[in-house]
Amino acid sequence: MSEMQTNRFAAGAAYVDGVFKPMAEAVIPVNDFGYRRSDVTYDVVGVWEGNFFRLDDHIARFRNSMNALRLQPPESNDTIKDILHKLVRLTGLRSAYVAMDCLRGVPVPGKPRHPANARNYLVAYAVPWISIVTEEQYERGVHMIIARTLRIPPESFDPRVKNFHWGDLTAGLFEALDQGADTAVLLDTDGNVTEGPGFNVFSITDGVVATPIRGGLDGMTRQSVFELCGELGIPCVARAVPAEELRQADEIFTCTTAGGIMPVSRIDGRIMGNDRPGVISSKLKDLFWARRAEGWHATPVNYDAPVE
Ligand code: PLP
Repeated sequence: MSEMQTNRFAAGAAYVDGVFKPMAEAVIPVNDFGYRRSDVTYDVVGVWEGNFFRLDDHIARFRNSMNALRLQPPESNDTIKDILHKLVRLTGLRSAYVAMDCLRGVPVPGKPRHPANARNYLVAYAVPWISIVTEEQYERGVHMIIARTLRIPPESFDPRVKNFHWGDLTAGLFEALDQGADTAVLLDTDGNVTEGPGFNVFSITDGVVATPIRGGLDGMTRQSVFELCGELGIPCVARAVPAEELRQADEIFTCTTAGGIMPVSRIDGRIMGNDRPGVISSKLKDLFWARRAEGWHATPVNYDAPVE
């Protein structure tokens, strides 16, 4: 492929239903159930300094999500991995946000208008690295509120299936905006913490790290936090975290693929510590990036694969 053609992908490369295209040319039909009914699942894996992070874990979670929604695209897990490598390779990016979606499609004409009668397909793309927090928020700590809007109950939709049912999370973001905060965390119907728009949440009290056991996604970064706490000998538990515990916490941090470990410095207007990231949160954040730089859970992007 000539350099000029390669440059067409510099702003991002996409794969739509079997075809690779520059990001700006990636389109889906507007009558697709994936769009009209949010009948879709997705996953996002990060590439940092030329390495995918936890690639096999993301692919396994993506497959579990597809199975849960009875979505069956033609691509195998190995093929999906090849597609993701090729997308990053096309862009040449060293750090990228790599998304993979499986959409329901449109029911075949002449058959009942039931999702079972649609041909499912994959969309994936790689674009320059995205973070859900700004550099400023990352350094000073995120200002968070506990939203009045409740998270969709797991009995209605399993939050472990990564999804675009973001009506509640988006409402939380606007609540935060109205209160001069950066972001929000949502509670469940029992008043326990669930998750926020694009992240899991951890609360630290008396040196013990706790995160909700249900009501949110089993995040890959959350899993990494468990591992890092183990390494540092910091007690860490998954259990119900009542709203009041979070409100009174010594420290809070959030975590996600698109941002890593993000300390919180204010909760519902209360300043924690010295209005800066807490000691334990900062230690975990620093170790997270140090371990990443060492190649922890890394799969090198196949930049040198033969040109097609
Ligand atoms: N919770 C929600 C609702 C998310 O959308 C995300 C990531 O996008 C997460 C949690 C964090 O998951 P991960 O660490 O796997 O990125």
